[in-house]
Amino acid sequence: MTATNCWVPGAARADGDFPIENLPWGIAERPDRPGEPRPFAAIGDCALDMAEAAGFGMLEGLAPRIASALRQPALNAFMALGQDDWRAARAHVTGLLSGGPRSIERHARRDAVLVDRGSLRMRLPAEIGDYTDFYASEHHATNVGSMFRPNQPLMPNWKHLPVGYHGRASSIVVDGTPVRRPCGQTVASDDGPPSFGPSKLLDHELEMGVFFGGQGNALGTRIPVARAAEHLFGLVILNDWSARDVQKWEYQPLGPFNAKNFCTTISPWVVTMDALRPFCMPGPARGADDPAMLDYLRWSDDFVVDVRLEVLIASAGMRERGVAPTRISYGTFADMYWTMSQMLAHHTSTGCNMRPGDLLGSGTISGPVKESRGCMLERTWRGTEPVTLADGTERRFLQDGDEVIIRGSCEQPGLPRIGFGECRGTVVPAQA
Ligand code: CA
Repeated sequence: MTATNCWVPGAARADGDFPIENLPWGIAERPDRPGEPRPFAAIGDCALDMAEAAGFGMLEGLAPRIASALRQPALNAFMALGQDDWRAARAHVTGLLSGGPRSIERHARRDAVLVDRGSLRMRLPAEIGDYTDFYASEHHATNVGSMFRPNQPLMPNWKHLPVGYHGRASSIVVDGTPVRRPCGQTVASDDGPPSFGPSKLLDHELEMGVFFGGQGNALGTRIPVARAAEHLFGLVILNDWSARDVQKWEYQPLGPFNAKNFCTTISPWVVTMDALRPFCMPGPARGADDPAMLDYLRWSDDFVVDVRLEVLIASAGMRERGVAPTRISYGTFADMYWTMSQMLAHHTSTGCNMRPGDLLGSGTISGPVKESRGCMLERTWRGTEPVTLADGTERRFLQDGDEVIIRGSCEQPGLPRIGFGECRGTVVPAQA
């Protein structure tokens, strides 16, 4: 169902991603303004050009700082404004696109501001200054840990703090960008000697990313866990491409490096926490044997978000023949041990300063069953249980030409469906 009347084509479709209750933000170039990236709000089959709308006076009534931020070529300035301004912008856009007095349905410039979403060239939504990737799924950490350390799958720290590493922001790309197979050092046996060449064990990781918003904390100050949610601007789907053979040789003692710095793909539309609020649920449940949480990570109103996710693969041959991609796993972002608020509180607990547009990855999202394992390493259990694609070929890890497609949405009876769109990437051969 759709609660609010909206006249835009496709906005009322029950299986659509972008009803008026969603209104995610993105940055794109329209075909008639190449080289001029600007903010858009996705709605149905269209997207509202915020810079153009501002130019035609359609943002009058919004504070000038908000209208100005919505004319920038990246969302950082808008992300910096904070919750009250994000909500004011959302309410204003809702008014433009629904049947009230502010509606632009009959405005002479309607077709100049409302463009076909499929015609847009999507860009990264923000200039991402810093990117940190966590490891917050107990199922994932336990599965991977049990492959490499059967006697101690979870390290002693794992249930006390959200483990993470500082990732690489420069190689974050938007949906649809080709993913070049990385080269690196790999070993045939555990202690070498290494050789250099294309990774043979390329993998995806199903994750969600959250953009930091609001004024950043000053260096040397913390963001308390109970205030962290105010800084969650919105979510995207994230694929943390990983070279497992490179990772295995390099990761001790300082963690992932080249195995993960070559590419991270995100979906282009940032779905706001206001759109996701009906799908937030208390969490996560702790086991009876789990250790008590230290106070700086405890918040009585903490929550997770029930975003249902699925990973599909289409080989080059399948795409050529028009064969539908094969779903290889599915899960929910609610299945996490550590919450986004805890990740942010822990990240800043040292006084590390966050800035608007910084991105936090959740870590691979895996659930309790085999079909909910969020990467090939787990899904095929290090390649010992290959998955079969619709063209009959088997996959242990990703091959050149494979396209990985991740989709996500929030769905509950009686509520409009809130979708994320897609996060796609096709593997291209390593540099010669
Ligand atoms: Ca990861």
